[in-house]
Amino acid sequence: MEKKLMHLFEAQQFDLNTIDALFSLATSLEENPQPVLRGKIMATLFYEPSTRTRLSFESAMLRLGGDVISTENALSVSSAVKGEPLEDTIRIVSMYADVIVLRYFESNIAERLLPIASVPIINAGDGAGQHPSQALLDLYTIHRELGRIDDITVVMVGDPKHSRSVHSLAYLLGKYKNIIINFVAPEELQIADDLLTYLDGHGVQYTKTHDLTAAIGEADVVYRNRLQKERFESETLYEKYKEMYLIDVPMASRMKQGAILMDPLPRIGGITTEVDVLPQAVYFKQARYGLLIRMALLAHMLA
Ligand code: ASP
Repeated sequence: MEKKLMHLFEAQQFDLNTIDALFSLATSLEENPQPVLRGKIMATLFYEPSTRTRLSFESAMLRLGGDVISTENALSVSSAVKGEPLEDTIRIVSMYADVIVLRYFESNIAERLLPIASVPIINAGDGAGQHPSQALLDLYTIHRELGRIDDITVVMVGDPKHSRSVHSLAYLLGKYKNIIINFVAPEELQIADDLLTYLDGHGVQYTKTHDLTAAIGEADVVYRNRLQKERFESETLYEKYKEMYLIDVPMASRMKQGAILMDPLPRIGGITTEVDVLPQAVYFKQARYGLLIRMALLAHMLA
């Protein structure tokens, strides 16, 4: 049975039935969008930059017949400038909107917001924490492009330490069978132990390496993510590693037949434009799947 989500703060909240239901809904909304959210208002409140997440949520809402109110760059244009705490902003916006899509610069927003939330809240990225709707669209991309999610090897390359997209996708993959994840990064940017403990508890095999050339040929999915510059404590560390994992045509050609190359984008420092025409490159499709998944998510939570 599909479980209706009240809020969405982390990827672990999805269960397999709900994921299946959301995927079916996304696919049917692609063929036949319905104005099921007419009369509803979504507020997007973004304290960090975004292109795909904010605009795809807004487009999704409009395509379902709903309306949107929005604060882009909330840190400098909303009352946050005057020092208004997040909790107060959420209380107020809850009076104006039926759902809040929030991107914030600190992690663990659920702890702060669950006690006061009176309308559904969707975490659209909380610092170096999680980005659950990204993980759902990533999973949908794998489902659409590979035709399966069980029995896959995923190479996650870039910045597993800071990347909320990597965190949420790894948590979500923990729900499937025979998953192998290979985290590729320099030691300073490797995945945190708490996530590895979760993977252990969910039967996911994982390895850690810094060597992309050796790892890439094993993957069914290569999930690249830029180094998260804004989370680095030192500029020197960022400069040292920023182009370490450039995926150019020779590197992409090491991927096995039928494997896919994904990236939540932006691709900064990571994938050369010549790779875009290769059959492996699905990152632009991935961004389009994001629109469908966010339509499904809003319809599921609000209709
Ligand atoms: N757009 C994704 C995020 O907000 C990935 C990234 O920025 O690297 O987490």
